Amino acid sequence: MQTNPALIIAHKRDGQELSAGEIEFFIKGFANGTIADYQMAALAMAIYCRGMSENETTHLTECMLNSGTTIAWPPGNQIRVDKHSTGGIGDKVSLVLAPLLACCDCQVPMLSGRGLGITGGTLDKLESIPGFRTDLDLAEIQHVTDSVGCVITGASDELAPADKKLYALRDVTSTIASVPLITASIMSKKLAENLDALVLDVKCGNGTFMKTIDQGRALAESLVATGQRMGLTTSAFLTDMNQPVGRMIGNALEVQEAIALLQGAGPGDLKTLSLRFAAELLITSGSVTDLTEAQTLVSEHLDSGRAYEKFVQMILAQGGDPEADRPLAAASDLNVSAGGYVTAIDSEQLGQAIIELGGGRRIMNAPIDHGVGLELLVNVGDPVEPGQRLARVFAREAEREPVSRMILEAISIEPAPISPNELIISHIPCSPER
Ligand code: URA
Repeated sequence: MQTNPALIIAHKRDGQELSAGEIEFFIKGFANGTIADYQMAALAMAIYCRGMSENETTHLTECMLNSGTTIAWPPGNQIRVDKHSTGGIGDKVSLVLAPLLACCDCQVPMLSGRGLGITGGTLDKLESIPGFRTDLDLAEIQHVTDSVGCVITGASDELAPADKKLYALRDVTSTIASVPLITASIMSKKLAENLDALVLDVKCGNGTFMKTIDQGRALAESLVATGQRMGLTTSAFLTDMNQPVGRMIGNALEVQEAIALLQGAGPGDLKTLSLRFAAELLITSGSVTDLTEAQTLVSEHLDSGRAYEKFVQMILAQGGDPEADRPLAAASDLNVSAGGYVTAIDSEQLGQAIIELGGGRRIMNAPIDHGVGLELLVNVGDPVEPGQRLARVFAREAEREPVSRMILEAISIEPAPISPNELIISHIPCSPER
């Protein structure tokens, strides 16, 4: 086995497969500081350009997982599940899904991230609730999971610490969009949760980093294969991100929309995704054997308001005040001049608009404004009349004009109709153990 970092990087650059030992040597060294950032950056770029085999990706995932601890749950028959989304505009499914599954006797220890770039982060959304804590330590994660049934918090520093360090390096070296690096990053954190089943929502389209269905499928297959090889029951869905999920984009607005669904009134696409992922996890975790039965069960918990009650319990357990005001910036209407049909929505541009408003961040850990955002009032395929309202922007005065223009430019109106996008593009089921 080679222990010279420069030669390991050169092997990968030349397209050779790395051994388990070489990967372990590199990741351990990077985590403990004996491998320098510039050496890790060079290896990340070699992986970005050359890819990795399934074997290499699994070894990389295992090493990142082993850089930290895993959550040790008390013995018993309790089923624990989670969902991870690769990130999209307006994606607030986690806020609905965690309490919904907790109503079905599953526990959901959901460790989420902050937004960086165009896609928002679940933690930022929840922090628009006054008092809500997203920095629970391992003992608190275990306590809230046990007492409420679900928790949504940041990954503690003890879980997959090599990923935190590597992600920051990838962010500044343009090596984020690599299938093996994304796979190891996501799966090491999810494996640290010690789950019975995981479902992945791999977004494809103009509002996420996997722009095409083929790219999304390659990532989904890598995630599912790696999960299965590491002994975690894993399945995935490819879902459309050529328009935002729901109507609301922006932190406090997205919490408002998730609560609306939990109270029986949210948008159809958010409901469809939440119910389908919940039913999937009931099946793959072995809680329920029949898909129709699973779908009926999750619909009943959502429609009865039980999932909303569970959401409130989770907010209270994490220090939040569910009754407190979540103030929004002043709203103004954006109207279309000519009529026609909505033929495309540039979701990436809408994500950029949120950053311009101050609701997203360009650099890690920058502060954000929870009260800004937008409400999109049309979907791809909708007819529009001249003068019709397309969106409402919630902005501070300085950004209102330029961002309004960005939002209007992101919505294409053409004379001829087109068919709406398929929301769930495909399902990648758990593959048999390899
Ligand atoms: N999300 C992650 O957690 N890691 C990545 O590398 C990309 C998206």
